[in-house]
Amino acid sequence: MNLADLPQTSLAAAFAAQRSAFAREPMPDAAARRANLDRLALLLKNNQQAICEAICADFGHRSHTETRLIEIFPSLEAIRYARARVAGWMKPSRRHTGLWFLPGRSEVRYQPLGVVGVIVPWNYPLYLAIGPLVGALAAGNRVLIKMSEFGPNFGALFARLIGEAFAPDLVSVVLGGADVAAEFSSLPFDHLLFTGSTPVGRIVMAAAAKNLTPVTLELGGKSPAIVAPGFDIKTAAQRIGFGKTMNSGQTCIAPDYVLLPRGQEEAFVAAMRSFAQKLYGDAASPDYASVAHERHYTRLQALLDEARSKGARIEALLPDGAISGRKMAPVVLLDGTPDMRVMQEEIFGPILPVIPYDALDDAIAYVNERDRPLALYVFDDQRGRVESLLDRTASGGVTVNDCILHIAQDDMPFGGVGPSGMGRYHGPEGFKTFSQQRAVFRQAALNGSAILHPPFGKPLAEKLIKLMLR
Ligand code: NAD
Repeated sequence: MNLADLPQTSLAAAFAAQRSAFAREPMPDAAARRANLDRLALLLKNNQQAICEAICADFGHRSHTETRLIEIFPSLEAIRYARARVAGWMKPSRRHTGLWFLPGRSEVRYQPLGVVGVIVPWNYPLYLAIGPLVGALAAGNRVLIKMSEFGPNFGALFARLIGEAFAPDLVSVVLGGADVAAEFSSLPFDHLLFTGSTPVGRIVMAAAAKNLTPVTLELGGKSPAIVAPGFDIKTAAQRIGFGKTMNSGQTCIAPDYVLLPRGQEEAFVAAMRSFAQKLYGDAASPDYASVAHERHYTRLQALLDEARSKGARIEALLPDGAISGRKMAPVVLLDGTPDMRVMQEEIFGPILPVIPYDALDDAIAYVNERDRPLALYVFDDQRGRVESLLDRTASGGVTVNDCILHIAQDDMPFGGVGPSGMGRYHGPEGFKTFSQQRAVFRQAALNGSAILHPPFGKPLAEKLIKLMLR
């Protein structure tokens, strides 16, 4: 069902329909959950071309192969991973029972929460809808998904495909702008997962607080890459270059800036430039994505203009070629200063500031003086030094000696810390995020608890209490 054009009261009606369906069927079994995941996998497999076309149209341009690799593939992997494990995740987990409560038994049971809301940004509109949906369906919930207004073609396609595959009281897609988004986040969901910017995350959390709706906030920020002294500059440049040019840098965990041993800047720029040219030739390459919408394009150009006017050196990594539309050649930015916006806010595009450091401790201090990032990239072959760097910094996740890849490991939680987010999903942690972890203690028929009941002061009870307080 496409809820896009319905009056807003219909949003509440769609929510109410899911709530009552959940009340009728509060604990779907593993087979039903697997069937839902199968339906989702089929939807993706059967509509690859349409998905790629819609996302390409929304972006202005994005290679179909890139969409297959960075959206459809990880979505299918997440489904396969959850499908194989959901029955195991659902099993109650036996827990330790304190000596004084034996022979009672303790266990944690995983119960669906009910109706889960998911708010999706425009940059990975498929994967960031499917990822949370997989976790929520595996945990037995019903799901309302709000797509971004900046991806109208894909939003409409996804609403139609979900409408064909699922009953609206199980999964439904909502389209619309900020007004619909605001109404959406004010619904009394049993859990709300928001992926998007930190400022909107704050608004969403405030709206959810009115209903005491628990939130998972998947936000952004400036994710640093630290290249340690002695690490091969060419290798670092290639791996950072790939992480930064994928989807034209419009990736929440793209390396935002690089901390480099002083004196290596020119070698780094040269290595990145030759790598970028090997990958793409020029910025008009059909393998290189456009900046996805006008407001974002204008913002990125303004970041560059301001930095240039304040003395930054901008090194283009690709010639423009027969560039058109919102394509933007990737650049390295040198001599950035703290008063430039590009050094302060999340870039979310193909601009890479390079910041030289004198000692590795200075690089660590630079990272630690700023908001805790969503991702951190460490390039270092010295194991002990990597361990120490991991211990001395904080971030949502880390990839060592490459970029981005920790997000693709389905058995690891994904999420931020502090201003880069709150809570986590993916894999077993995702299942738990969307489940009520219910503590169940079963009292035994024969037990000694009455010994401790009042009236107090009985000799046997006193002896026991003495033992308990030993
Ligand atoms: P955004 O915050 O502008 O919008 C995200 C979603 O929120 C959209 O669907 C939008 O309609 C909705 N929204 C807008 N106003 C709202 C309101 N008042 N109440 C409720 N919802 C509202 O973000 P964006 O520009 O779409 O995406 C870019 C940001 O997302 C970047 O900061 C990026 O780092 C972050 N991001 C994070 C992750 C992650 O997994 N942590 C992934 C992708 C993107």
